[in-house]
Amino acid sequence: MKIAFQLKLILLCLAAGALVMSVALAGAPASTKLTGKVIGTPGSYQNGGSTIDKVFDGSLDTFFDAPESTNGNGCWVGLDLGKAVQITKIRFVPRSDFPDRMIGGKFQGSATADFAKPVDLAVVKTSPDVGKWTDITTLLSSAAFQYVRYLSPDDGWGNIAELEFYCAP
Ligand code: CA
Repeated sequence: MKIAFQLKLILLCLAAGALVMSVALAGAPASTKLTGKVIGTPGSYQNGGSTIDKVFDGSLDTFFDAPESTNGNGCWVGLDLGKAVQITKIRFVPRSDFPDRMIGGKFQGSATADFAKPVDLAVVKTSPDVGKWTDITTLLSSAAFQYVRYLSPDDGWGNIAELEFYCAP
């Protein structure tokens, strides 16, 4: 009787230990989301408030929409990471109304804030899914960059709803 009780206790402890271990494994991050100062094309379309900070506000419904003065060309939004970091993953969500405006858009890294010599990390080749995240884990460069951005194609108006950059844990 006593032995049976001790056996149950041991089994209970083992089960609890396995549970704790599995929770710990599931919670271990495969990568770390990077934060930084939001940089990019200033202003918004018709001063409607859809500025670059809307790309990092966590809402899939808000997006960057560049001012008329740009004619929709050369618009970009990104982060100053504060120091050079190797990017391992990029995630993004397009503007729901115009996902096609991202085709030809580029994710880039740079050593300088003006992106004088940008390096492509990834290029958007097809219209991305609306209302959900697209993950890019195969990047074109493994170099480290302090400045990272999304450069929208001509006539793209900078449109992108959310953008995240990740590094190794
Ligand atoms: Ca947003």
